[in-house]
Amino acid sequence: MRIVLVGPPGAGKGTQAALLAERLSIPHISTGDLFRANIRQGTDLGRQVESILREGGLVPDEITLAMAVERMALPDAENGFLLDGFPRNIAQAKALDDVLGEAGQRLDAVLDLEVPEDEVVKRIAGRRTCRNDSSHTFHVAYKQPRREGVCDVCGGELYQREDDREETVRHRLAVYHEETEPIIDYFREQGLVATIPALAPVDEVTGRALAALSERAA
Ligand code: AMP
Repeated sequence: MRIVLVGPPGAGKGTQAALLAERLSIPHISTGDLFRANIRQGTDLGRQVESILREGGLVPDEITLAMAVERMALPDAENGFLLDGFPRNIAQAKALDDVLGEAGQRLDAVLDLEVPEDEVVKRIAGRRTCRNDSSHTFHVAYKQPRREGVCDVCGGELYQREDDREETVRHRLAVYHEETEPIIDYFREQGLVATIPALAPVDEVTGRALAALSERAA
C-alpha cells in the first residue's frame, strides 16, 4: 500500500507511522528524519537545511522532492511505503501524484490524524526524543522514561528537538495550517482521506488507522 500520514506536529505521526509501517511491512519514510540524519552526518544537504529546521520553517520544495523521490526509489519501497511529513504543501502533493503517475502507481490512502490544538502544544513542548530512533519518544509529564534522559527501548540519549520549543511549535502549527492543511482537501477530492481521531492511547489510534485502511481496501 502507498499511504500518506498527515496531521499537525505532535499528533503522533512518527509513533503511528513506525507502528503502521511494521504492521503493513512497508518502509516508514519520514522527510524530517531524513533531514535530521543529514544534519547529524554533516552532509551538504544537512548544512543547507539546518537553520530552516531549527526555526520550524519548510525546506524548499526542490530540495525536499529530490530527497523524497530518491528515497522512494529504493528497492524496499517498490511495493509500498508510508510517508510521514511529506507531502507538506500543495506543490509537493501534486509532484508526488506526478511521480507516482509516471510509474503507473497511485496513493491508496491518506490518513489524517486529528488532535485538538492546545493538546498539540502540550505534547510537543514536553516531548523528549531518542537520538537513535525518533519514533522512540517520551514526555516529561505523560510518558516518563524509567531513567531520566535514557530511552527505555534502546538506551539512546533523550533530548529535546530544537524545533520542539514552545515558540517554534507555535510557528510550526501556523505553517501547518497555512501550507499543509490544504493538502487534506486536495486528497479528499480524490477520495483518499480517512480522518482518524488521534487523542487516544497509541494502540487505539493504530487500531483505528488499520480499520480505516482495511475499509478502504474492501
Ligand atoms: P518533522 O519531523 O516531520 O516534524 O519535520 C521536521 C522539519 O523538517 C520540519 O519542521 C521542516 O523544517 C522539515 N521538513 C520535513 N518534511 C518536510 C517537507 N515535506 N517539506 C519541507 N520541509 C520539511
